[in-house]
Amino acid sequence: MKIKRMSATFLVAAAIAGTVLPLSIAAQTGQSSPVAASRANVEKVIAEAYEKYKGETRGKNADYIPYLAHVDSKLFGIAVVTTDGKVITMGDVDYSFSIQSISKVFTLALAMESLGPDEVFKKIGSEPTGRAFNSPVAVVDMPTHSANPLVNAGAIATASLISGKDKDEKWAKILDFYSRAAGEKLVVIDEVYKSEAASNEGNKALSYLLAKYDRIYADPFESVDNYTKQCSVGVNALQLARMGATLANNGINPKTGEVVIKSEDVPHILSAMMMAGLYDGSGGWAWHVGLPAKSGVGGGILAVVPGKGAIVVFAPPLDEAGNSVKAQEVIEYVANKLNYNLYSPLSVGWK
Ligand code: GLN
Repeated sequence: MKIKRMSATFLVAAAIAGTVLPLSIAAQTGQSSPVAASRANVEKVIAEAYEKYKGETRGKNADYIPYLAHVDSKLFGIAVVTTDGKVITMGDVDYSFSIQSISKVFTLALAMESLGPDEVFKKIGSEPTGRAFNSPVAVVDMPTHSANPLVNAGAIATASLISGKDKDEKWAKILDFYSRAAGEKLVVIDEVYKSEAASNEGNKALSYLLAKYDRIYADPFESVDNYTKQCSVGVNALQLARMGATLANNGINPKTGEVVIKSEDVPHILSAMMMAGLYDGSGGWAWHVGLPAKSGVGGGILAVVPGKGAIVVFAPPLDEAGNSVKAQEVIEYVANKLNYNLYSPLSVGWK
C-alpha cells in the first residue's frame, strides 16, 4: 500500500540510487506463486527425494501410544500444495494418519483468533525448552512454565484457552477450525483417541503441574481430553499440506478461498514453529533447513514456505526427539534444491 502511494519519480530515483530491491520472482513472472512457476522443477525434485530416501530404515515408530506402534513403518508419502492451489503428490498420500502434535499449530491459530497474539503470548509464551516435548522438568524450569504452544504443556494450556459453554462445544470449535484449514471435513480416528486417552497419564500430570503455576485456563483434565482428541484427528498428507498452504497463503485456504486465519496472526504462528516445531531438534532443523515446520509422533512433518506453499512428508519411524527421520531428510533435500531456506537471500529469487 505504502509503495503505491509513493510517486513514480521517487521510485525511479530510488531505483537509480539502488535502494529498491529487484522485483520478486512472482512479480517478474506474473505468477502468484513462485512454486507454481516452476512446477516441473518441483515435481522433479520431489521424485528425486522420494527415490533417494525411500530405502531409509533408520528410526522407530512411536510406541508410547500403543496404536502408533502398529502403523506400517514403510508408509511414505509426500504432498506439496502451493498458495495458488497446485498439488504435487507422491507415494502413500491417501493414508489417513493421526495429526498428533501438528494439531498444536492450528489450536494456537484458533486461540489467537479470539484472544489476539499479545494475550496468547502472555498466557503461553514462545521460548524453546531444549527438552523433550513432554518434559515435566521444562514446566518447572521455564520462567513461563507453559514455555511455548508447541510442546505438550504449552499445547494443553493453549487448548484450555478455547472458549465455549462446555468441553464439547470447545471441541466442536477446534474440529471445525481444522476442517476449514484443510478445506474438507476432518474426523477423529477413534482407535487413536482411545489408545491415547488410555495412556496419557503424563499429559494429565503436565496439566496439573500447569495448574500449580496458574498457567492453565480451564479444567486441567477436560483440557487434556480435548488436546488428546485434537492429536487423534486423521489427515492424509494432502489434507495436511492444504492446512499448511493456508498458513503459507496468509491465512486464506487456497482451495476454498476462505479466510481461515487472520493474516496478522500468521507470522507469530510461523515463528513459534521455527522456535519449537521440532522440539529439541529445532535448532538443528533451523540450521539445516530454515523453514517453519511442525512434526507429530504419528510420523508427519509439515513445513511452510511463506508465500509459496507447504510440503508434508509422512513416514512413521522417528528419531530420538520424536521427529520423522525420512520426513526431515526429504524436506531438507527439497528445501536445499529449491532454495526454500528463509534465511537464504536465494529464497526470494536472489541469484
Ligand atoms: N499426542 C502426543 C502426545 O501428547 C503428541 C506428541 C507429538 O506428536 N510430539 O504425546
